[in-house]
Amino acid sequence: MCLICCCFSLSTSMSTVIIHDPNGARANALTDWALTHQDILANRQARVLDVRNPSPLRVIITLDDLNQKTNINTIQEERLWVKVVVPELDFDRVHAYIGCCNCGRRTDVPVGKAYTCTNCSQKGSMACPRVTTNCDISDSTGTRSVTMFTSDSETLFRMPAEDIFRIKHTKDDIAIKAATEMVRTKPILVQLGPTVALSKSNALQWCLKKVALEENTEEASEENEENDQAALEASEENDQAALENTAAPKK
Ligand SMILES: [Zn+2]
Repeated sequence: MCLICCCFSLSTSMSTVIIHDPNGARANALTDWALTHQDILANRQARVLDVRNPSPLRVIITLDDLNQKTNINTIQEERLWVKVVVPELDFDRVHAYIGCCNCGRRTDVPVGKAYTCTNCSQKGSMACPRVTTNCDISDSTGTRSVTMFTSDSETLFRMPAEDIFRIKHTKDDIAIKAATEMVRTKPILVQLGPTVALSKSNALQWCLKKVALEENTEEASEENEENDQAALEASEENDQAALENTAAPKK
């Protein structure tokens, strides 16, 4: 456990032994440190509790506030909201394809047909339209690249994946223009959180967790689950270069 830099990290296994009141110079040094830094420990505990039991009130910060965060003052479970628009949506970076409705893996099975997905092993999964949207989100303080999977893309475009799929593949210019204009002018709420790189290697990278509309925040889509990796890989086949899973700040 590293106390000096304020990051608590403790992993245990079946063979881990916990010694209560240990002896030795290192244990004594730690005890001394804890006694003289009660305030830091109390602050840290309060912050962990805050993050674990967030108040129902959603606090919205700016992209600039987000850029000020560091690996020292961020914890893995932290979730932060920004209110943004997509100023220049590029429909070439919206990937619409047919995939497993459970994990998003691309399939050649016809839409609506049940099958057993080889990626997630889901029996009776359904082939359905899936969408991955790569775009830049902006507020008055900054811009950041994000990737939105199917349910978040549906929230962004305020339409079901089938409609996005149809617009994309029929090259419906009028609908594409209308959607581009809507996301440019109507704000969305985007929840960001640290990738697991924070607990694995103490590196802070933000990724999109969910997208919500202001008037309808409780029905926000579920978090980008890990099995969306399949969706990511599937859309990468379309456009390797444009895809960026982490929410990278733009210079
Ligand atoms: Zn699947």
